[in-house]
Amino acid sequence: MKRKINVLIFASILGLIALSIIQGYLINNTYKLEKDAFIEETKRAVFRFDDQLTEIDSIYEMVGEEMVDRIIDYKLGRLEKHKFLNEFNNITDTVNPKFIKLYQDAFRSFNLSHPVKFQKRLRAVVLLDSVFNDTLFYKPQKLNSLYLLGEAFDVESAYALNNSQITNDVQRNYVENGIEKSVSIEFQVTTQDYINIDGWEKEVLRRMSGILVLSIFIFAFVLGLLYYSIKSLITQKKIADIKTDFVNNITHELKTPLATLTLATKMLRKEEIQHEPKLIENTVQTIERQNKRLQKLIDQVLNNSLGYKEIELNKESVIISDYLNTVLDDFELSVKSKELKLNRNFNLLHSSIRIDKFYMTTALLNILENAVKYSENNIEINIDVQASNHLKISIEDNGIGISDKDKNQIFEKFYRAGNTEVHNVKGLGLGLYYTKQIIKAHNGDIIVKSQNNNGTIFILTIPIN
Ligand code: ADP
Repeated sequence: MKRKINVLIFASILGLIALSIIQGYLINNTYKLEKDAFIEETKRAVFRFDDQLTEIDSIYEMVGEEMVDRIIDYKLGRLEKHKFLNEFNNITDTVNPKFIKLYQDAFRSFNLSHPVKFQKRLRAVVLLDSVFNDTLFYKPQKLNSLYLLGEAFDVESAYALNNSQITNDVQRNYVENGIEKSVSIEFQVTTQDYINIDGWEKEVLRRMSGILVLSIFIFAFVLGLLYYSIKSLITQKKIADIKTDFVNNITHELKTPLATLTLATKMLRKEEIQHEPKLIENTVQTIERQNKRLQKLIDQVLNNSLGYKEIELNKESVIISDYLNTVLDDFELSVKSKELKLNRNFNLLHSSIRIDKFYMTTALLNILENAVKYSENNIEINIDVQASNHLKISIEDNGIGISDKDKNQIFEKFYRAGNTEVHNVKGLGLGLYYTKQIIKAHNGDIIVKSQNNNGTIFILTIPIN
């Protein structure tokens, strides 16, 4: 059974882990999809207003014209290839502030949910010729392409918009040595646009918040359900174990008197005993004793199972010291088999209390009898009694003690500690349960302090009045 439960717990935990991994994978996929969708949306919005910005077009035209001039200068040998870019950069730098402002204003007027930055980069400039193509600039990679216009940001984490490739042919007239000449060029320019979206992670998470909250809720629900199921499974198992123990214990307790009764009745039937009245009397006494023992056992099971609400107290006022001394004296007399030393220490600021004598005596005797049952020889029991607002009775023994694990459970119905020393001693595991119910019926409390092999102290507190 224990193995079965462990396998079940293990399988459930494994299932939960698998479920978490699948859920994690799905959430991650949703995150990626949402991210792509959000970036696509932003890109589309940028395209839409890119078309509507006529002032931007005039900047592009101006920059384009400047580029044509540089290319012609290069073609006519007036500008070296490596200087081409430097010259060109000076021009873009002067128009850039206006370019940036136009984009920023546009982004603002389009009410985008997140701040977006725009950048245009140059990837290639090629002079086309019927004989051979002359590459003036060629950096197709994202990182080493040339920053042309727009806001400066790290392109590595930026998103690429469309790239544009423009092929154009231009003819220009110029004057050289007083002679008017004409030059025509055909060239191809490749640019790439990038956008940078600040805080896109927050926006994506916001869009996913519904699904995130729902999955956390479902996960917590499944976890709670699993915890609850495992807990009740363990409790059921504990109850089943306790019941089995109880049945074993009671069978054991019933067997001895029953065996004696069988023997005694057999004895009475014997011919030779009929003429011996002394022997008959002895046997009848044995039958009566065993009968009483069986009755006591049944009463114990019936009464000791009562909860504190079912106990009807019949309270009377008692003189604390007289009452306790009587209980202790009777108890001392009843212990015959073991050597016992009972130390009493009374400190009473209040002399009387209202209690149900019958129940309270049962409770005290349960604790005192346990002190004897769960001790080896040379038993020493210290009884310390204090009475002020409360009656506080501490009963300390020098017995086998109780482990921390058992300590929390000894007041439960049918519970007996798991060690072999306890199992060698007869018992049903009801005494302390009943004791606690009696103390609770008196509105009091009982606690235990103990360590394995180091004695035990039970402390009872009952309010006076
Ligand atoms: P029972 O004595 O019939 O087993 P109780 O309810 O009286 O049942 O006690 C419950 C368990 O608490 C005992 O089985 C024993 O393990 C433990 N216990 C009780 N009193 C003592 C004690 N004085 N010293 C050590 N163990 C004790």
